[in-house]
Amino acid sequence: MDLETLGWNRFFQQHFEPFNDQNLIPARIAREHKNIYVVYTEAGQLTAKVSGRFRHDAQDYSDFPSVGDWVAVKARPEEESATIHGLLPRKSTFSRTAVLAGKTEEQVLAANIDMVFLVSGLDGDFNLRRIERYVTIAWDSGATPVIVLNKADLCDDVDSIIEEVEATIFGVSALAVSAEKKEGLDPLREYLTPGKTVALLGSSGVGKSTIINGMLGFEQLRTGAVRAYDSKGKHTTTYREMILFPNGGIVIDTPGMREIEIWADEEGLSSTFGDIEALAGQCRFNDCRHDNEPDCAIQDALADGDLDAGRFQSYIKLQRGLRHLALRQDQKVQRREARAWQKKVSQFQKERQKLMEKGIVQ
Ligand code: GDP
Ligand code: ZN
Repeated sequence: MDLETLGWNRFFQQHFEPFNDQNLIPARIAREHKNIYVVYTEAGQLTAKVSGRFRHDAQDYSDFPSVGDWVAVKARPEEESATIHGLLPRKSTFSRTAVLAGKTEEQVLAANIDMVFLVSGLDGDFNLRRIERYVTIAWDSGATPVIVLNKADLCDDVDSIIEEVEATIFGVSALAVSAEKKEGLDPLREYLTPGKTVALLGSSGVGKSTIINGMLGFEQLRTGAVRAYDSKGKHTTTYREMILFPNGGIVIDTPGMREIEIWADEEGLSSTFGDIEALAGQCRFNDCRHDNEPDCAIQDALADGDLDAGRFQSYIKLQRGLRHLALRQDQKVQRREARAWQKKVSQFQKERQKLMEKGIVQ
């Protein structure tokens, strides 16, 4: 694996300089599970952990590496392992606000993504508002969004929908594809240039896996380039989180990115936790917090073992996450608008100044 193929460029090169004379090499995080990382390096694929010093210096959650991050490692290729000593700055960040041990923190889901395919289905799933939210999330992250409308084979007026999307959302290309029929995938492949990292975002069932498979092509799958696909399983198959395409280009497909749909809109929340919402509807009080209230259907279900405590916790966390996110996105949008406005004002003042110097205006 050479570094450029993995997405290495001058930006990272520059920030790696302090590590150059420490006998460390660059590595890209391909996967993370319970503080154990799989990294790609020039010395191949290694299993890595952060050093004690790194852990000690980390202020919060976002100081730890995530999928897509570039890190500085001490490699032990003979053991196929490495120790992570430093994290390079991120060019883009997909994150969520998570409540960990009672503290609100930024949790980075994926880093250094250049392009993000926002996938929707042209069947019943199509929802312009949701696409707008995805576009906001993408711009916030620092990645460039591309709108991908899949399942074109199930839609009669693809052209007018594309027109509607492009008219509503300025400056973002929209492409119609049918992953199943392998139609329209070539323009998508063109985004997969060597060293560029693409991620896919979209509700479950819109066809993200089918698109990735379609772009890879059957032959490549059969050669075993991505073993995990054989099982047809969902994201329980872990090694596929960072896929290096044979002709260049990297696709990141992590469970965390897939979860963005859940906290990107409340609709997603209720469809994923429909059973819990249904239970909540049976509580005696409408505003039940499912804590100590009498006749709480959720507490009853937990006590009877009908509802898994872990799932209930995730539900509560996601609900909180949604509220934080809604707040944070508003603030971000406001800040961005304020900046854009300031820029316009100062441009206007400069123009005016020039005209005054030329004596055109007073
Ligand atoms: P994911 O959850 O986003 O990864 O979605 P999958 O790739 O697993 O696809 C969900 C379902 O949609 C599968 O049954 C696919 O066969 C189907 N599907 C994917 N792409 C298309 C398409 O272009 N047209 C049609 N008709 N079905 C599709
Ligand atoms: Zn309750």
